[in-house]
Amino acid sequence: MGAPRGYRTVAIVVRTVDFAETSQVVHLVTPEHGLVPALAKGARAHKGAFQGGVPLGVLGEADLLPRRGAELELLRSFRVTDGLRGLRDDVDRFAAGCYVLALLRDLARPALGNEALFLAGATALKAVASAPPPAAGTWVAVFEARALSATGHRPHLDPCPVCETEVGRDALFSPVAGGVVHRRCAPEGPVRPVSPADREVLARLYTARLPSFAAEPLGPAALRAARGVHDLFLPWVLEREPAGRRALA
Ligand SMILES: [Zn+2]
Repeated sequence: MGAPRGYRTVAIVVRTVDFAETSQVVHLVTPEHGLVPALAKGARAHKGAFQGGVPLGVLGEADLLPRRGAELELLRSFRVTDGLRGLRDDVDRFAAGCYVLALLRDLARPALGNEALFLAGATALKAVASAPPPAAGTWVAVFEARALSATGHRPHLDPCPVCETEVGRDALFSPVAGGVVHRRCAPEGPVRPVSPADREVLARLYTARLPSFAAEPLGPAALRAARGVHDLFLPWVLEREPAGRRALA
């Protein structure tokens, strides 16, 4: 067996923890290697490959070296390609950005590439950083939808996944059933009523092209419907409350 090969990748920095005198442990989400925990030796020293530390919540290019038998890879260098500064100049954007980073970290798997999940994260962070702050909630909901789809949890919206006939007016969202069901078909467990208008919002979130959300963000009622469904569904998928949820407006 040869020595482990180093590689370069684009990455989103989803967590940083200071370690020892000048080092950091960073968690990166990458398209081809999934979640990568890595040690950045001497990262916080003023000179060197990291210019004072790897910042949280940025896009960049990482140079990584896996270490045989070690959980942490070695981060040899990191170059910020998009500092996403807009996330840090408004409290709503900041909360939305923190939530997206936390959810991305929760959904990414070590050593399991997921390009669609990476793209959903990168797109959402860029959009939150640059869109008007009131649109942050729309981009969070869009990210949740795209990230759920990318990880195999896209909800059934029609027909009812239990009886496979069209869902009528009297519908419920059931995480246990994995989507929208007839009231009579709902399995035991948490549910939430979804009106025909709510279901249109969900259909849009899961299928519309991204530029349409920039042109027309979700209105307050649509946003409430999306939040209600995702706040019921995500804890079910993750088996716990999503980190950062409480910071969202
Ligand atoms: Zn049914």
